[in-house]
Amino acid sequence: MTSASLPLRPRLLVCAVLGAGLGSAGACGEAAVAPPHVVVVLIDTLRADHTSIAGYARDTTPRLAQLAAQGTTFAGHFANAPWTKPSVATLLTGLLPPAHQSQWGDVERAAGGEVDLLSDGFETLPELLGAAGYSTHAYMTNTTLTAAGGYAQGFDEFVPLPATLDGDRAALAATRAVLDNASGPVFAWCHLMAVHNYRVEAGGERFRSPHETPIAGATNAEILARYGVEFHEQAVDAYDNTVLFADALVGELADHLAQQHPNTILVVTSDHGEELREHGGYLHAHSLFNELLRVPLVLRGPGIEAGRRVERLSSGVDLVATLFDLLELPAPATQGVSLLAEFAARGVYAEKRNGERAGRAWITPEGKFLEWKPPGSPGSKPTLEGRGVWGFYADPLGLDQDNTAGSLGAARLQAAQRQMEALGEDSDRIFERETRGRPTRGVLNDQELEDLRALGYSGD
Ligand SMILES: [Zn+2]
Repeated sequence: MTSASLPLRPRLLVCAVLGAGLGSAGACGEAAVAPPHVVVVLIDTLRADHTSIAGYARDTTPRLAQLAAQGTTFAGHFANAPWTKPSVATLLTGLLPPAHQSQWGDVERAAGGEVDLLSDGFETLPELLGAAGYSTHAYMTNTTLTAAGGYAQGFDEFVPLPATLDGDRAALAATRAVLDNASGPVFAWCHLMAVHNYRVEAGGERFRSPHETPIAGATNAEILARYGVEFHEQAVDAYDNTVLFADALVGELADHLAQQHPNTILVVTSDHGEELREHGGYLHAHSLFNELLRVPLVLRGPGIEAGRRVERLSSGVDLVATLFDLLELPAPATQGVSLLAEFAARGVYAEKRNGERAGRAWITPEGKFLEWKPPGSPGSKPTLEGRGVWGFYADPLGLDQDNTAGSLGAARLQAAQRQMEALGEDSDRIFERETRGRPTRGVLNDQELEDLRALGYSGD
């Protein structure tokens, strides 16, 4: 749904140095009235703690580190869901997963019937920016995010691209081209899949673990242990190499923007992380532990302080409000807050409603609460009913290894539960209000099912 057209407020074109605030715009010697471009680069599946800006031991993201020096980094940032579909819907709407309810729909269930849609009752970021005079473009390499699923709403141009390195390159080239040829303000969503798919160019493997060959003459137990170590280390190597590769791609785009389009707000973030055996598994979508929820967020551009690091907790639901604050446009109705304004410390909500291990997380400065639905709970579409298996982790930014819920006391668990219930009720009201009379579910066609399978969303 598109709101009434909003007039753009004139603002100064910042053409001096990157990271300069509006106050130094006079260095340009001219004042132009041009709203900034907005470019969101989403590096799919990038966990924060494997980036240089979060202090990772390997220098996987030297370019992101440069960007952080030119802009503002949010060090306590989270995704609101552990997989693409709900997490991106939150980034696009500023609504939590229970409010937009675009969650359900892996291959197993989709083949049997219906999947959730991102209802066209919601106002998306491109709809809001379009109403404010922007041309809006998505270069979409994640085939989970389809026009049929509601993810194209508000984009003047929505280009599905293959989830390959060529697809990533095409997304970056298209982003450059649309800015180079722009006659007005542009919003571009550039979605990169290299990390999701563990792909790098040949010769791009820089990180190598010490265990490269099996061990001759070891006992069975030793071999099992060693193979386990090898697989894990090589999985980490492969992941880190793809992070380095994606970082270089983003760096090229960031350089181009700095040189040709300095009046651009550049957002680099991710939709979720990736498990590398912290809880016995790999990949993503299957839990709410921090290896799947903590993601980077870096902003650079006019009005954004250079070299600033924000430690407060934040999440993807805050992106829309933050961008509208930066653009000096009236804040749309969302469940997020502007991360550039001062705001009281508050919790981050995340949930996973699909699959067996449905649950919800409430992440606060005092620690992280997890409430799981018990395994094996019935239901063709899991809800959070029957919940009550608790986790508590004292470090909200840690890797959720030491569950101390048992010694926490019922009062604190109940307080966290009340907070989550209140958010859930607020979300229910938003969903009912915004989707009334509109479809919220659909059916995937054979190609869309095949695309989901190819990405590994075979059911969970
Ligand atoms: Zn994803």
